[in-house]
Amino acid sequence: MSVPVPRRAVLRGAVLLGAAAGATALTQFGAGRDARAVATRVDQPTIANCATWGARPPSSPVSVVQSRPNKIIIHHTAFPNTTDYSLAQAYRNSRDIQNLHMDTNGWLDSGQHFTNSRGGFLTEGRHGSLYGLLHGQTMVQGAHCVGQNSQAIGIENDGIYLDVQPPQALWNSLVWFCAFTCQQYGIPPTEIYGHKDFNNTQCPGLLHDRLPELRSTVAARLGA
Ligand SMILES: [Zn+2]
Repeated sequence: MSVPVPRRAVLRGAVLLGAAAGATALTQFGAGRDARAVATRVDQPTIANCATWGARPPSSPVSVVQSRPNKIIIHHTAFPNTTDYSLAQAYRNSRDIQNLHMDTNGWLDSGQHFTNSRGGFLTEGRHGSLYGLLHGQTMVQGAHCVGQNSQAIGIENDGIYLDVQPPQALWNSLVWFCAFTCQQYGIPPTEIYGHKDFNNTQCPGLLHDRLPELRSTVAARLGA
């Protein structure tokens, strides 16, 4: 699914310019809080859409949920920890996950909404997830966490973190992704969870211990 990112970026720039001009005027009258709110807006991270990484089409249409998600759920893939931090590996990983989910699990498409690589590259998972995120009003139904698939955005972090920490690049892109997603959907940073909060699993390993740090770092990015 193609998304008119450049046009939206232009539109956002125009809005920001207008808002900044307004905030400057307001500041002269002592309304400094408005100026700070503009300054902490989270820019969109680069997220490669399904076409870019060579996704297969879904085996049946994805379901669109006509409401905003209320939380983000963090996962790890449990794949071996690769030392290939390239963009090509991020794309290959996205294809591997989709093949596993469609051919082994029998799902219609990738289960997660987004994927984060050990090199810090973000990709779209299930078709339509990026469109939903950029517009901020709907989401596609996922298959990443039983009981939460119609209300939680799921992100898979490549690797297995039961006894090792993820690379800093993965952490940095996870923070950026979560901050942007919270902004787009109006999700409070306190509503970021790990898979094991809802299902009987070890996922996402040590990343779960770092959820308080993730929430506070995301809140700081949002100026909350
Ligand atoms: Zn999980």
